[in-house]
Amino acid sequence: MTNEEARSGGETFAVVNPATGREVGRYPLMGRAEVDRVVARARETAAEWAQSSFAERKKILCRAAAILADDGRRYAEVVAEETGKTVMDAVLADLFPVGDLLSYYGKNAKKFLQPVKVGRPALLPGRKAYYTFEPKGVVGVISPWNYPFTLSAGPTISALAAGNTVVLKPSSQTTRSGLILQEILEQAGLPRGALQVITGSGSRTGQLLIEHPGLDMLFFTGSTAVGRMVNVKAAERLIPAVMELGGKDAAIVTRQADLDRAAHAAVWGAFFNCGQTCISIELCLVDRAVYEPFLAKVLAIAKDLRSGSRAGEIGSMTMADQLAIVETQVADAREKGAQVLTGGAREGGGPGLFYPPTILTEVTPEMKVMTEETFGPVLPIVPYDNILEALELANRGPYGLSGAVFTRDLEEGRWIARRMHTGSVNINDCLVAYVIPALPFGGVKQSGVGRYHGRLGLQAFCNIKAITEFAYDLTKEPYYYPFPPEGDAAALAVLSVLHSHNPLRRFTALVKLLPGAIKFWRYRNK
Ligand code: NAP
Ligand code: MG
Repeated sequence: MTNEEARSGGETFAVVNPATGREVGRYPLMGRAEVDRVVARARETAAEWAQSSFAERKKILCRAAAILADDGRRYAEVVAEETGKTVMDAVLADLFPVGDLLSYYGKNAKKFLQPVKVGRPALLPGRKAYYTFEPKGVVGVISPWNYPFTLSAGPTISALAAGNTVVLKPSSQTTRSGLILQEILEQAGLPRGALQVITGSGSRTGQLLIEHPGLDMLFFTGSTAVGRMVNVKAAERLIPAVMELGGKDAAIVTRQADLDRAAHAAVWGAFFNCGQTCISIELCLVDRAVYEPFLAKVLAIAKDLRSGSRAGEIGSMTMADQLAIVETQVADAREKGAQVLTGGAREGGGPGLFYPPTILTEVTPEMKVMTEETFGPVLPIVPYDNILEALELANRGPYGLSGAVFTRDLEEGRWIARRMHTGSVNINDCLVAYVIPALPFGGVKQSGVGRYHGRLGLQAFCNIKAITEFAYDLTKEPYYYPFPPEGDAAALAVLSVLHSHNPLRRFTALVKLLPGAIKFWRYRNK
């Protein structure tokens, strides 16, 4: 028994590789005592880490990127083993974005968190006004299993780069993906205690974390249902919370689209990571003029995809519950008249949670697959007659995470992008807005609250403090007590001089102010 197990009273849980059914790890199911201890240590370390220089943080973050790159295969294998995804999926979407974000914040955190000087009203001469970015303290991060490394690392790296310490609770299914993040950062020089991983289920260990009074901020990535509850917990204690939640993203293919590119992108955007991507394409809306040729191209590409976490393009799904949701939605669509053009039934007799790429047509708004998040390899394709109808379908649901539009006419693409109610839109592409570290990422409507990545995303992990400075030898201001005689008339005249659009009124006010100003000058210097 390890020390951690001893402290958690010996209770453990197992992680099973969903592609093989074999146990690949066993970890302590942490309870209140461990969570208290970890948060206390994060608090102790917070003061020290907040004092670290940007040069030191840069060294650690850039070194971590190098460690990740040098031992990439091992880390990708860890992620693939816990999720059942292909190693290629792990490299592309778990390693690349993390390497990029480490380097990006390594190089830019200092610039993004410098004090910002601002102008000030004319009535406050001689002042300096600026705002500074200070670490919030201890940030709790909760991450899901679909991109367990990226979605643990994104908020964690941001929080650390801004000078906070972090308590990370990865999804229990993907515990080791959280642990390797800690391992890499500590190997790169991060002080112990600055990032700690707590292991256990969401309902027990996660719940203890979100209710813990020792946190200064929460960052949650996961389902809208749990996110809503986490946000309420944060609100009760009045701490800020960023919520990265579910999506039901649409792609719009206009008659101006390069149909080959649109078809390749739609298949990749729908089936990458076995469709278990918050920003995956879950609905494809196609101008009726190009519907048939587009459908033929999509089918041809999708039919060639092979399942298999080792050899194929499409790995195993990660969670049996999620596979059950996919099966329910496809059955519901079939019952209500949908056509299944390819896929549509579980594959292989083995233990793996393999489900093939599935394309549905003849779908209607009553079907679950049109309204609920699927989070699996299912792509409904729907023709539209005019773009407003397509936008209405794309924007109808409760989610607003991301979207895609395919057209050779960029003006048309931008017009459509502006009208999609989402946190991001890719024109002639999909998914990629997330992996550009300089772009703020997040959702609207029930897809989330707040943003991370980019300059704004780093600043979100800081307390913003406004500071004014006055450094002249002056005993009192005109608005300090006692007010000068006829101070109110003078103040009103100043208001007119500053803001009135009436030239006569401004001139009169100026004349009125002159003797007052002289009087004040004398009075002030008494
Ligand atoms: P989930 O069930 O909401 O779980 C997310 C995390 O919360 C896991 O670590 C989970 O732990 C934990 N958790 C569960 N119940 C909790 C509780 N009562 N208190 C505290 N923590 C709790 O989501 P999921 O099924 O893992 O992930 C799929 C969802 O995430 C989808 O809806 C997807 O769209 C969304 N997602 C959003 C984004 C984004 O950036 N917007 C990215 C990826 C995924 P356990 O797993 O150990 O129970
Ligand atoms: Mg879940």
